[in-house]
Amino acid sequence: MRTYAMTGGATGIGAQLKQQLLDAGHKVISVDIKEGDILADLSTADGRTAAIDGMRAMAPDGLDGFIPCAGLPPVAKPLSLITQVNYFAVIATVEGLRDLLEKKKGSVLFVSSNSAPMIPSDDSYIQSCLAGDEEAACTEIEGRDGHTAYAGAKRAITMWMRRHVVEWAASGVRLNAVAPGITMTPLTERVYADAELGSVMKEFGDSVPVGRTAQPADIANVMRFMLSDESSYLCGSLVFVDGGSDAMLRPDDF
Ligand code: NAD
Repeated sequence: MRTYAMTGGATGIGAQLKQQLLDAGHKVISVDIKEGDILADLSTADGRTAAIDGMRAMAPDGLDGFIPCAGLPPVAKPLSLITQVNYFAVIATVEGLRDLLEKKKGSVLFVSSNSAPMIPSDDSYIQSCLAGDEEAACTEIEGRDGHTAYAGAKRAITMWMRRHVVEWAASGVRLNAVAPGITMTPLTERVYADAELGSVMKEFGDSVPVGRTAQPADIANVMRFMLSDESSYLCGSLVFVDGGSDAMLRPDDF
């Protein structure tokens, strides 16, 4: 039995992964704003502290893995909520659990997105995120758009992951990320229902090379593998699980 902690285990991809890990006999500590072992609003400093303290109290012997899966869609308002939950809460919880991950030589599995490469790495919003300046990132994003808020935060966590791979591996912790394509979850339902982004997303969903959008299990199956002993040499990897969309959009970039 292994011990995993995660955020965002109440619905969608996180709920599916949580169930798969439980079915495999593992212990799963789940933080969410809706339901879970620890109820916390990760958009706030107090919520992040409660989440970290709660997970630490439930895993005193260490963690085999941490999956910061909680996330808001590009249609969430205000846009700074997306920045707070999808970037700053992820980094805060990952850093707050580092010693517990080191104890068991565990791994972190970030949840990126196939939209992450759509925002250039030198974008000023991404740079504010990576500089750890939550106030600047939140202020800037209010004057921009939901796609940049969402995809930019996903690019930023992926760049943070890659930048910290060497240092974290030196203390025994591997960092990896999964990049799902459009997956049928409550998050996607909110985007599909949006007057502005709904039709664009549906059109993108229709263009997926394998001919369908993903179900949560399509993503969780790969995540479970990425957290297992079979993938112990995976380190610093960004794995697209998107039915071929990224290859379709960026065939020559990898
Ligand atoms: P979802 O809405 O089903 O799950 C998100 C979870 O995060 C929910 O349980 C929700 O309660 C929790 N959450 C939201 N705000 C929170 C807060 N402030 N504090 C604590 N918990 C909070 O969506 P999903 O599609 O399963 O998303 C899971 C992850 O996958 C997200 O990080 C999302 O960005 C990512 N992702 C999803 C898709 C997709 O198409 N669905 C594609 C790429 C990446």
